[in-house]
Amino acid sequence: MELGFPYSTQISCQSTNGLKCLCKLLSSPRLLDSCCFFAGMKEIDVCIIGAGPVGLFAVFELGLLRLKAYVIDTLPVVGGQLAEIYPQKPIYDIPGYSYILAEDLIDRLMQQIAPFHPSFGLGQKVVGLQPMKGGRWRVQSQNGDLISAGAVVIAGGLGCFEPRKPDLPGLEALENRGVMYRVRDPEKLRGRRVVLAGGGDSALDWTLQLAEIAGELTLVHRNSVFRGAPKSAAQVRALADAGRMRLLTSTALVSLEANQEGNLASVTVQTKGQEPLCLEADDFVPLYGLTPQLGPIAEWGLALNASAIQVNTENFQTSVPGIFAIGDINTYPGKLKLILSGFHEAALMAYGAYRYIHGGAKPSFKYTTVTGINAL
Ligand SMILES: Cc1cc2nc3c(=O)[nH]c(=O)nc-3n(C[C@H](O)[C@H](O)[C@H](O)COP(=O)(O)OP(=O)(O)OC[C@H]3O[C@@H](n4cnc5c(N)ncnc54)[C@H](O)[C@@H]3O)c2cc1C
Repeated sequence: MELGFPYSTQISCQSTNGLKCLCKLLSSPRLLDSCCFFAGMKEIDVCIIGAGPVGLFAVFELGLLRLKAYVIDTLPVVGGQLAEIYPQKPIYDIPGYSYILAEDLIDRLMQQIAPFHPSFGLGQKVVGLQPMKGGRWRVQSQNGDLISAGAVVIAGGLGCFEPRKPDLPGLEALENRGVMYRVRDPEKLRGRRVVLAGGGDSALDWTLQLAEIAGELTLVHRNSVFRGAPKSAAQVRALADAGRMRLLTSTALVSLEANQEGNLASVTVQTKGQEPLCLEADDFVPLYGLTPQLGPIAEWGLALNASAIQVNTENFQTSVPGIFAIGDINTYPGKLKLILSGFHEAALMAYGAYRYIHGGAKPSFKYTTVTGINAL
């Protein structure tokens, strides 16, 4: 069964491997659970790999040109980095908004693409991409689902999200038992004893945000200097000086201790030249960034440059005709990894994809103020 555009409802669907899943779709479409919704090979105009902001906006631009999209993502929710890394952070450089929370931007994008009824394959990693007859592409997900697409758009961002993990014995046994690699909902940390680790923007920003929320907050950084924005670093130091959190620089993580139930009990650290210190903790959040791993995308024969896909700037096509790459995953002279750059790329890509699918025919350019939105 195909799942069309989902909103606040319950949808039962049958995966190809026979497992039945019930997707409880809550008030936000971002909460769409992972499921599979077709048997056999699905035919679609364009398959978009990656449901980050850029992949989602690509649905809109393709829809304007009457191209229907299927969006596939390895994560169980849409939103890419915005959903996974910083859902509650305000973004200030989205045109038309003085600021917008990352999760709200994703909700708005989902509303914007709703008229084009995209289908989603969430919780599915794309592992294979092969050419088919007639210039079409066969996209294969890890669980064996197959899509036949007229063109493919890779909007894979940083690739599959793999957090960098500190080398601590027993770390993985404590994952989801106090150890997490991203803060999904800061409210869940209200009043708790939280230890953050890291020296980049993510660690600094979360320290600033959680200082108001956590019951007890410690930031552990192995160096004395932060890699993140100097302004944020100064704010963190000021908070520590004011006694509103504990800042431990030049401090190494030593070990994690569990309680009898197998949940995190404490984090032991050691500041240079001092004795080890045991910090009682409910939550430990090492924020060492994500390992940018292209994963299977690196094996598809596309021209790459330092783990990014090379594209032209006319239509963001890769070195292989019919395969386009937009958003953080691509590279070209002057590339800026910004959401708005990805939106621009999506618009030009859609014209390129249309021409590829329609044997070179040029779509007529029209303003939405003239055409409105013609639902697909
Ligand atoms: C802390 C932080 C703050 C930021 N602040 C800003 C800001 O203020 N303004 C701004 O413009 N930008 C900001 N950015 C950058 C912005 O988040 C990115 O530019 C944006 O997310 C890129 O969108 P995308 O859709 O290209 O990729 P992503 O958001 O990375 O989404 C890519 C998706 O592709 C999926 N994927 C990858 N490989 C596969 C595969 N093989 N199969 C299936 N799915 C796959 C991933 O799971 C992911 O969901 C910030 C980034 C961070 C980390």
